[in-house]
Amino acid sequence: MYDVVVIGAGVIGCAIARQLSRYKVRVAVLEAGADVAMGASRANSAIVHAGYDCEPGSNMARVNVAGNALYDEWCRDLRVPLKRVGSLVLAFSAADMEQVRRLYDNGVQNGVPGLEILDRAQALEKQPGLSEEVVGALYAPTGAITCPYEMTIACAENARDNGVEFYFDFRAEKITTLRDAVEVENDKNVLFRSRYVVNAAGVHADEISRLMGDDSFAIRGRKGEYILLDRAVSDFARCVVFQAPGPLGKGVLVSPTVDGNAFVGPTAVDGSSKEDTAVTQEGLEALKAAGRRSLPDVPLGQPITAFAGVRAVPSTGDFILGVSPANPRLIQAAGICSPGLSSAPAIARETVESLRRAGLFLPERADYDPVREKEKPFRSMTEEERERAIAQDPRYGRVICRCETVTEAEIAHAIERTLGKPTVDGVKRRTRAGMGRCQGGFCAPRVMELIEKYGGVPMEKITKNGGASRMIVGRTGQEE
Ligand SMILES: Cc1cc2nc3c(=O)[nH]c(=O)nc-3n(C[C@H](O)[C@H](O)[C@H](O)COP(=O)(O)OP(=O)(O)OC[C@H]3O[C@@H](n4cnc5c(N)ncnc54)[C@H](O)[C@@H]3O)c2cc1C
Repeated sequence: MYDVVVIGAGVIGCAIARQLSRYKVRVAVLEAGADVAMGASRANSAIVHAGYDCEPGSNMARVNVAGNALYDEWCRDLRVPLKRVGSLVLAFSAADMEQVRRLYDNGVQNGVPGLEILDRAQALEKQPGLSEEVVGALYAPTGAITCPYEMTIACAENARDNGVEFYFDFRAEKITTLRDAVEVENDKNVLFRSRYVVNAAGVHADEISRLMGDDSFAIRGRKGEYILLDRAVSDFARCVVFQAPGPLGKGVLVSPTVDGNAFVGPTAVDGSSKEDTAVTQEGLEALKAAGRRSLPDVPLGQPITAFAGVRAVPSTGDFILGVSPANPRLIQAAGICSPGLSSAPAIARETVESLRRAGLFLPERADYDPVREKEKPFRSMTEEERERAIAQDPRYGRVICRCETVTEAEIAHAIERTLGKPTVDGVKRRTRAGMGRCQGGFCAPRVMELIEKYGGVPMEKITKNGGASRMIVGRTGQEE
């Protein structure tokens, strides 16, 4: 019997799990995928939005601005990168300038600090190389960039270290609400009984809600595609550059990443399948045109990969948070499209307060530790630090990923830390092995050898990303 079962191990479910781990309650996180950050939390723009574009008075506006403010503390304790690079919304016309003024007023109402309306020259100081058509911009100094999957992994690791249990390859398919508990079951009849359920199931949150008797909203997918540029040509990107928004959201942006790359994206394909993360020629062409509109010289000839994520767009137009009016044992964290990453710490706090209001007794734990330790990457070490590391553990002397300088020792540690089953992408997200220019062309087979060696997964069972994504079909000379 758990006090709380959280369905979904994206950034929202993991942030809620971390917040709950402050208290003496028994918590399980149930995830359909093989690892954390398997949905929108692994493929998004990584922007901690300032909060000027959400409708004043909405849930989105409240948790975006509060979440942005909490990011410094969360990233410090969790050792997650955060860079307050600031963001611009470009205006290309007088009509766009009207939009910029509207966003400014919105932002002031939402309590966003430090907003400024810039003229062209001031905008160019923030981001050189802007199009000649740019006439002005909104500047938000609290706009920031982070790493969304590292944030998710860090929240999960910290929650686990503070006693939360994680279960993977568990897709909740049947939920029965009893008088004083809820039973959550998968298709193999494995059953979790809990006093409360938190619905953090991303694009599938409407389905979970319906299973618990609340059909008050639907979720549709909205795919967003990206082009990621090589680090060697990315130092032009100083801050997050948006264009004046359209009916489908914030539009295409050009931004640096915390790892020194730059990207252009996302597109907005409304009504796409909830699972469709394919990139398309059409999408990439649209991105190139939109990227050049902001920065005509953006080096689009040096991409290293393209990827896509699916936003969970709620029919209500706002995040669905709090105790469900239809079922007092269901706490919603649903319809979390953008700015969900930015809002995660605030949604986590509010969800815990909702559980308290629903009747959950939450005594604080004296031994709660908010800090998640993280080893310094070999690529960031000084020469002396490297020598010391290799002397202590010779596996630091064996570089597995040449593009990102990732060593065997770091990959071994990442495999040991993995909450679910180790996968090639899981190692990539934890160490950056395979994130560089060759995108794993060189190191993927060596990473697989290490997953077999340290994770105990036989080579032919290793997957890229869980499920059916096996990397090889079998060993030579063996029947499949
Ligand atoms: C293209 C794009 C760009 C974005 N850019 C930004 C941005 O710059 N800044 C920002 O703040 N936000 C951004 N967002 C939004 C942000 O990514 C999301 O709000 C956030 O990742 C949502 O997290 P989540 O945990 O709710 O969902 P997810 O990360 O999708 O996690 C949900 C999890 O639930 C699991 N699940 C689903 N059904 C079940 C079930 N039945 N049983 C068990 N598990 C289940 C899934 O496997 C998944 O792992 C963007 C989103 C997209 C797609």
